Amino acid sequence: MKYVLALDQGTTSSRAIVFDERGRACGIAQREFRQIFPKSGWIEHDPEDIWRGQLACARLAMQRAGVTAGRISAVGITNQRETTVVWDRRTGIPVHNAIVWQDRRTAARCASLARHGRAPLIARRTGLVLDPYFSATKLEWILDSIPGLRIHAERGELAFGTIDSWLIWKLTGGRLHVTDPSNASRTMLYDIHRGVWDTGLLKLFNIPASMLPDVLPSSHVHGKTEARLLGGPVPIAGVAGDQQAALFGQGCVRPGMAKNTYGTGCFVLLNTGEKAARPRGGLLTTLAAHAGTRQYALEGSVFMGGAVIQWLRDGLRLIRKSPDVEALASTVQDTGGVFLVPAFTGLGAPYWDPNARGTIVGMTRGTSSAHIARAALESIALQSAELLQIMQKESGTRLRELRVDGGAAANNLLMQMQADLLGVPVVRPKILETTALGAAYLAGLAVGVWKNRSEIATRWQAEARFEPRMKRTEADERLGEWRRAVQRSLDWEK
Ligand code: ADP
Repeated sequence: MKYVLALDQGTTSSRAIVFDERGRACGIAQREFRQIFPKSGWIEHDPEDIWRGQLACARLAMQRAGVTAGRISAVGITNQRETTVVWDRRTGIPVHNAIVWQDRRTAARCASLARHGRAPLIARRTGLVLDPYFSATKLEWILDSIPGLRIHAERGELAFGTIDSWLIWKLTGGRLHVTDPSNASRTMLYDIHRGVWDTGLLKLFNIPASMLPDVLPSSHVHGKTEARLLGGPVPIAGVAGDQQAALFGQGCVRPGMAKNTYGTGCFVLLNTGEKAARPRGGLLTTLAAHAGTRQYALEGSVFMGGAVIQWLRDGLRLIRKSPDVEALASTVQDTGGVFLVPAFTGLGAPYWDPNARGTIVGMTRGTSSAHIARAALESIALQSAELLQIMQKESGTRLRELRVDGGAAANNLLMQMQADLLGVPVVRPKILETTALGAAYLAGLAVGVWKNRSEIATRWQAEARFEPRMKRTEADERLGEWRRAVQRSLDWEK
């Protein structure tokens, strides 16, 4: 039996999973790490903390699986995207905490760039919208805020990387400074059409090219881990950002296939093949994991997905545990005309309004907590359905099914609502660890554990399938009402 080790470095926790060649998880370890909030809207991580936790998980997962380094064919890495690390090439010590993707400290800089008309150029080159979400303005901020740092950067003494680059640097004892196209495409510095760091954007953000990692395919033998770390050298052969890894782990390797991850937020990705769809309608164009060919995806990011259920639990105390929402919402037939727009932290795609705030509309004397719970649940499906409608329109594809994963995908009522609103079947796979599995597949492919992408695609198996039952006219009407409710939440915060 062959084994592949997947490192899944997320926003709040690091995980490691040892998969066998049949794709079964044989050993899992997970560890949360510290979230640092220096000011309102600022979020940082300690890169050394991430590294130590990730390494500890890797060792523990191997121990639990009962395999030693010699039996592991490859390591695959998947990671929280956009989060920005700068370190000293000589000492390997970070010059600042990592600035996390959720951090809004560069909002004013983005607004100023927008006023100067930079958004269209950025969209054309990178497929992204001008937003603090991405790495470029975070990296610029680090270089500008530490006195004297720019001089070191210009002398080639500093390295920039997203978390994948940082982990590979540490895993190889500072021998490799690399990333993959899926991570590079989230920096706002990478030309996704030519597949190169964009000199114009580097100039715009005043970033020396010497800081940047080499971009190599996602499925590719990058090098070996230092022997002392895992008890022997293991090839690092898979690298992809978490959402693109999940797309791959879901077997969405052909154009027209899509997945939605229902976690804290929701991330909808549609594989558009070798053609990059224009990033219109508030969607992003991004690079999918590179395994043999360059592929693109359209992406829609919803900031509040499963997190709205946490709010029912912790804010309103309507339920004790997140899964309890299903029973409560099922006590009523429908939301009784209520819509809940969960714009608690502004709205992401397709609205991109940081000043939107949460609202509940349509309440009457008959409204009960069950209606509100049901409206909260439905808001997750409505936001996703809206994005998938835009995606199909912009890419000219018709979806045959939607593959789902993430914590809230366990909710059958939510999945039925999704199928109804979308008008296509929603399918949940047997293995829900799709992000880690995607990284394992990318790594295993590069070293011959699996033959090709089609073999991976055929390994995917459904656990449950939800068929649309709602009439299309009714679904369209609900989506229309939803858009009307969203209008009430926009541009609220002054
Ligand atoms: P992340 O990886 O973003 O931390 P997870 O994929 O672990 O998130 O999913 C956790 C989220 O899913 C939480 O916001 C939680 O409220 C929600 N959730 C978990 N189980 C259910 C459920 N049965 N129904 C609805 N929401 C759920």
